[in-house]
Amino acid sequence: SRKFFVGGNWKMNGDKKSVGELVTSLNGANVPPNTEVVCAPPSIYLDFVRQKLDQKICVAAQNCYKVAKGAFTGEISPAMIKDCGATWVILGHSERRHVFGESDELIGQKVAHALAEGLGVIACIGEKLDEREAGITEKVVFDQTKAIADNVKDWSKVVLAYEPVWAIGTGKTATPQQAQEVHEKLRSWLKTHVSEPVSQAIRIIYGGSVTGANCKELAGQADVDGFLVGGASLKPEFLDIIQAKK
Ligand code: 13P
Repeated sequence: SRKFFVGGNWKMNGDKKSVGELVTSLNGANVPPNTEVVCAPPSIYLDFVRQKLDQKICVAAQNCYKVAKGAFTGEISPAMIKDCGATWVILGHSERRHVFGESDELIGQKVAHALAEGLGVIACIGEKLDEREAGITEKVVFDQTKAIADNVKDWSKVVLAYEPVWAIGTGKTATPQQAQEVHEKLRSWLKTHVSEPVSQAIRIIYGGSVTGANCKELAGQADVDGFLVGGASLKPEFLDIIQAKK
């Protein structure tokens, strides 16, 4: 059975004081044995967080570049992320895709390089509202998944995060049925295009207005293997979300 995965994406929030307080609160968290918890602070705080955070919680970067080093002003590499003690990276987040214009091709190249460097990858996909309303949700998420899958050899280090763009930061959570429907289709896509064992082993997590109040019902869906939490990961209710599958 798949280990439940709860990621906290802090996005571009916090300062040394509030990040320190968040870490203190996380250090007091009770992490159930069937659950893996990963926190993604802004990259400038990766080292600070890793030094203060209990080892029961892993640390992720929110993005990285596709090569190890060089003249790429403003970018960070998987090697640097590992050097700070973090073990995961979020790639293809909708804000990277839609605010910063990252393409499927670039995201695929980043996935390949991050995996080659030994990082775990939280690979994000998800349709926009107009795409859902046009009835092309499946095509959009399958195309995004293919661009990622074409760059993966070892799937054991990949978590797939389904984050419908219309649910991110809007308070409009996907219903448990809506999430389950897409997760099930993604798993069956992986069965056909990758392999049956990979489709069964991979964690497919949901993101988009997950809260302490709605996490239990979402976690009860057969193909929902965890969450990628934005806003609520900065609040005390994150400790409840960690317990969603207990
Ligand atoms: P919210 O939980 O704030 O909707 O953000 C979700 C998200 O984008 C996590 O990566």
